[in-house]
Amino acid sequence: MSDIKIHDKIFEPFISKAKIAEGVKKVAAEINRDYAGKNPLLLGILNGSFIFAADLFRELEIEAEISFIKLVSYKGTSSTGNVVTSIGLEEQLADRHIIIVEDIIDTGKTLHSFMPELQNRKPASLKIATFLTKPDALKYPVKADYNVFEIEHKFVVGYGLDYDGLGRNIPELYILKA
Ligand code: 5GP
Ligand code: MG
Repeated sequence: MSDIKIHDKIFEPFISKAKIAEGVKKVAAEINRDYAGKNPLLLGILNGSFIFAADLFRELEIEAEISFIKLVSYKGTSSTGNVVTSIGLEEQLADRHIIIVEDIIDTGKTLHSFMPELQNRKPASLKIATFLTKPDALKYPVKADYNVFEIEHKFVVGYGLDYDGLGRNIPELYILKA
């Protein structure tokens, strides 16, 4: 694999297709074990998680459902700050075992602001599965329950993640070249 150019930036190969597949399988095995007989509902956060969610879901051998939501953030009152809410959420979450599926937890801001809305719907349990985390970038108390890769604090593209709209269809993960 060689470097690629997207818009104005150069990216270099970072995690191969084979390594990604292996990592996703491992997380799927944990979910198969933890959720057998519970019919979890996976909630993919659009757009970034759609590839990871599709691959993860196909590795599940247990009874499971999937749905997708888009998060929109708007300005709340001065006491609530920015509020993140979802569109497209039609499923009943009460008493369901929910697994949020994210592409990446960077600062943790998005999920930190959105978790209360999900908690308010009284799920039986609520966990987070993310393809990537950047531990050195984390600023909010968000903890992934399932995490395929921990990566350094650098910008990545591919496998559903974009740089200004492009790069989501690249099957491997690329990282910004210094
Ligand atoms: P957070 O709210 O955790 O700071 O940000 C999460 C969102 O920022 C992700 O869902 C993703 O859309 C975007 N993001 C954070 N880091 C990266 C990155 O390295 N590459 C890409 N393509 N998006 C990122
Ligand atoms: Mg995202």
